[in-house]
Amino acid sequence: MTKLPTIAIVVPCYNEEQALPLSVPKMLDILDKLSAGQLASTDSYILLCNDGSKDRTWQVIEQLHLADKRVKGISLAHNRGHQHVLLAGLMTVRNRCDAAVSIDADLQDDPQAIIEMVRKFNQGKEIVYGVRSSRATDTWFKRTTAHAFYSFQKKMGLETVYDHADYRLMSNRALDLLAQYGESNLFLRGIVPQIGLDNDVVTYARDERVAGESKYPFAKMLSFSIDGITSFSARPMRWIFLTGLILLVIALIVAVYVFTSYFYSDHISAGWASVMLSIWVLGSLILIAIGIVGEYIGKIFTEVKHRPRYAVADELWD
Ligand code: UDP
Ligand code: MG
Repeated sequence: MTKLPTIAIVVPCYNEEQALPLSVPKMLDILDKLSAGQLASTDSYILLCNDGSKDRTWQVIEQLHLADKRVKGISLAHNRGHQHVLLAGLMTVRNRCDAAVSIDADLQDDPQAIIEMVRKFNQGKEIVYGVRSSRATDTWFKRTTAHAFYSFQKKMGLETVYDHADYRLMSNRALDLLAQYGESNLFLRGIVPQIGLDNDVVTYARDERVAGESKYPFAKMLSFSIDGITSFSARPMRWIFLTGLILLVIALIVAVYVFTSYFYSDHISAGWASVMLSIWVLGSLILIAIGIVGEYIGKIFTEVKHRPRYAVADELWD
């Protein structure tokens, strides 16, 4: 019989002193179920990643580690935000597990779905996305704004998995590929689908927070969404160029109108024709020029990221 995989559950924690004592036992319970069901090895573990919390989160993590060695921890020197602490956690477990599952400390994402994720991993899937089946427990406001963000991002050229946050399983091979992305504007939801590899989704119901309050108010969500678009797509710049082209067409129509008025109307004010023409023609030319500069900046922007240009998934060579 082949060896059972070691699963690492990676949890970003910022000011979660109230949530952790409730959520960690539930995660340990999942580890027990995984090993009892012959789905994962008994050396599977949880990595709690403290994101420079201002409360007693790290002390709580130390206590949990003393009580059960399957609970491990890392602590960042200062608060770097959810995406960075998650990356820190994933890179810590890389090569120390067969697959890593990332999940929030508040257990809003049903941890039972981990079992299904690991089952799919054992069947050969390299990335398994947790997708919310409903947002019934989110407020109307959060639900509507979140959906508006998804469609806006798509229009702006950013491909993400719909209703998937950062609850997902990644094989160690996927983690290796993730490690090649050197960008500092991290938006994992955009990067992971780019990695490719054989993937699947598991759906689950999203719950209320176990304790404490949300660290993602509207303003943070908005800036997160803009970050996502601007680190994945130069499309907004192309839109400037297109607007310039459309305005140039309108400028030509305006020019015809101005010329006919100039020659055939006897009550136009002095200077009207030249001012009208200048505004429309120069305005559109300036926008086009900015758009062209934008195309070059867009190229620079994709070059400086030094993203991997390809990922070889399989090889037959002998
Ligand atoms: N988090 C973090 N650093 C931050 C903000 C949040 O590590 O600066 C963690 C937080 O502890 C939680 C996860 O990110 O585990 C998601 O945060 P939260 O549940 O507050 O967001 P929401 O579910 O309300 O969108
Ligand atoms: Mg939450």
